[in-house]
Amino acid sequence: MSRPTRALVDLAALRHNAQFARSLAPAARLLAVVKSDGYGHGAVEVVRALHAQADAFGVACIEEAQALRAAGLRAPVLLMEGVFEPAELAIAARENFWLMVENTRQIEWLERSRNSVPFGVWIKVDTGMSRLGFAAQELPGVRARLAAMPSVAPGIVVATHLACADEPDHPLTRAQLARLAQATEGSDAQLSIANSPALLAWPAARAAWSRAGYMLYGGSPFGRPDPVTAGLRPVMTLESAIVSLRDLASGDSAGYGATWTARRPTRLATVPIGYSDGYPRSAASGTPVLVGGHRAALAGRVSMDMLMVDVTDVPEVHPGMPVQLWGPQLDVDTVAAHCGTIGYELLVRVSPRVPRVYRS
Ligand SMILES: *Cc1c(COP(=O)(O)O)cnc(C)c1O
Repeated sequence: MSRPTRALVDLAALRHNAQFARSLAPAARLLAVVKSDGYGHGAVEVVRALHAQADAFGVACIEEAQALRAAGLRAPVLLMEGVFEPAELAIAARENFWLMVENTRQIEWLERSRNSVPFGVWIKVDTGMSRLGFAAQELPGVRARLAAMPSVAPGIVVATHLACADEPDHPLTRAQLARLAQATEGSDAQLSIANSPALLAWPAARAAWSRAGYMLYGGSPFGRPDPVTAGLRPVMTLESAIVSLRDLASGDSAGYGATWTARRPTRLATVPIGYSDGYPRSAASGTPVLVGGHRAALAGRVSMDMLMVDVTDVPEVHPGMPVQLWGPQLDVDTVAAHCGTIGYELLVRVSPRVPRVYRS
């Protein structure tokens, strides 16, 4: 049998989560964010699975968008950071990609482009994230300039990105919403504000277009399970199986650096998944791992291709016993908290070595 490590991707759960995202803002259109290979799930499969639920898809760069077209997918795709050089406009025109416009250089490139079919354009406004976008007071001028261009289609969307939507009642979120409202007062522009945490927790951020990423994959953008995320279903199960077992005496150590020591007679299981697969080396001893459905604890440093788990308290442990690193019974956000990061990072880091197995 081949190495048992794999990522199961539950496409029914994905569609369920998309439906849930839609239900939070029923009048809105849904831009499903599939950057970073669909948060590690496989962007092509995700787009295919969501064709009926999503109105458009969001990616970080043109290569990601082209990979969708190469797979035969014709759905609208937004380049969420826009183009990085003028040459990309020719590709975007040919492939019918929508463009975020967030800086003056991008406007100038568009002015000089001579595409026959006008681009769908979103304008990014910086209301407090301080990362991309025009200042709020520049918006009317930018919008007028773009709207006058033959290379820009009517129906420009105005978007902003929230910095703290994952924190309840954060004053910056309120300030960002107020700045956008002021900058768009009296305008008929369609707005897009909400990422996953905002869609879940900030009703005032619901607008013409929702931009949901992480929640579609079933994680909690709040870093821990939350009542508002109870309706989501985890899409990825990262799983493997025990390949080797050994018994340690109290005082024996395990793994590189001998950082973990048995405090009791201990049964240790070896699982063929390591940091090269995307299971983080920063996972501390004690990080939960499910073995045969029982909660057990990581023991010692994660190696490149393997890790060890203390299975002393797992009944009837045996080679071949299934191991879940995260999934429906062990949420990725909890594992991430033991690694000093967020579930987003764990999902996108699952490496190409791990086969994705799709369940529809
Ligand atoms: C990644 C991204 C999103 C999605 O954020 P989630 O928290 O994953 O929902 C939305 N908008 C923009 C501009 C993004 O870059």
